[in-house]
Amino acid sequence: AATVLALALAGCGQDSEGGSEDERDPGEEGGTIGIAMPTRSSERWIADGENMVAQFEEAGFDTDLQYGEDQIETQISQVENMIAQGVDLLVIAAIDGASLGNVLSQAADAEIPVVSYDRLLMDSEHVDCYATFDNERVGELQAQYIVDSLGLADGEEGPFNVELFAGSPDDNNTRYFFDGAIGVLQPYLDGGQLVARSGQTELNAVTTERWSGSEAQDRMDDLLTADYRGERIDAVLSPYDGISLGVIAALKSVGYGTEAQPLPVVTGQDAELASVQSIIAGEQTQTVYKDTRELARQAVAMGQALLNGEECEANDTETYDNGVKVVPSYLLEPVSIDAENHQLLVDEGYYTEADLAS
Ligand code: BGC
Repeated sequence: AATVLALALAGCGQDSEGGSEDERDPGEEGGTIGIAMPTRSSERWIADGENMVAQFEEAGFDTDLQYGEDQIETQISQVENMIAQGVDLLVIAAIDGASLGNVLSQAADAEIPVVSYDRLLMDSEHVDCYATFDNERVGELQAQYIVDSLGLADGEEGPFNVELFAGSPDDNNTRYFFDGAIGVLQPYLDGGQLVARSGQTELNAVTTERWSGSEAQDRMDDLLTADYRGERIDAVLSPYDGISLGVIAALKSVGYGTEAQPLPVVTGQDAELASVQSIIAGEQTQTVYKDTRELARQAVAMGQALLNGEECEANDTETYDNGVKVVPSYLLEPVSIDAENHQLLVDEGYYTEADLAS
């Protein structure tokens, strides 16, 4: 509740005091940053929003933080309102990356620069830069974890049963996570050491609308019924912690999670608190830590550069083609976390010991 209140308060400072773009004196009188985030249903986006508000305000800006709550239309009107109110910069993590084309044109007409945050804004030339993590690397880390845990890299032959889950089809990241993962898994699927009894190994067969944990739980229920009666499942590639917890709930409902029938290897992403606790409790196996404080820092630096009429710092100018242009990107490094190294999250101040214990 405290977090929601803090967010609500942060969202109140929405009136632009910076005046119009023309009057702005870059670097001196700040301005207002419109921050559009996709949902509060996942902790990571709450943290992203809080971190950006804190860091932009520290740099002398006002902020208007809005959450679309996974409703595309809501996000569109939130961004339209920000433009109408004369924000000086937009930072957007889209719900549906391709849905904001018109809005981005409006932003361009009003000379408001745009930073694409974590998820690439698609099909528009009006995207100035992109702050994200190395998304393909995220998938590689998840898949490599499965390969290593099953001993495949050491020559174990299996065969081991695996099922694949991917993220929301309208999130450009989904494809990168999946491509990274399948690149690692495919040789073992081809070699027969890994078997997906469902036969579902193509991206379009395994996506999860809006990254929904309950949709993933339903799909896992169906897979267990259809393909795993009397057969053990050894690993589940999950792209996101909320999906991992849904998958684990389905597995437990058919008896996994005991000494006689241990849970399979289940990957994840975001190092969300519930999943880190699940890892400590020996249920979820792995997650991928992406420090949202660092991502916010990158977005703030990009925003400041744009407001000063400079180019953003980029470390990748080739990968992220949004269909109209390759957007200059800064990719941060994701880190694989499991029971062995979860202490890193405390050491880095991402969580306290008390958080993890509760
Ligand atoms: C983000 C992930 C997150 C997922 C679901 C993706 O776009 O990159 O960190 O797990 O959305 O919120």
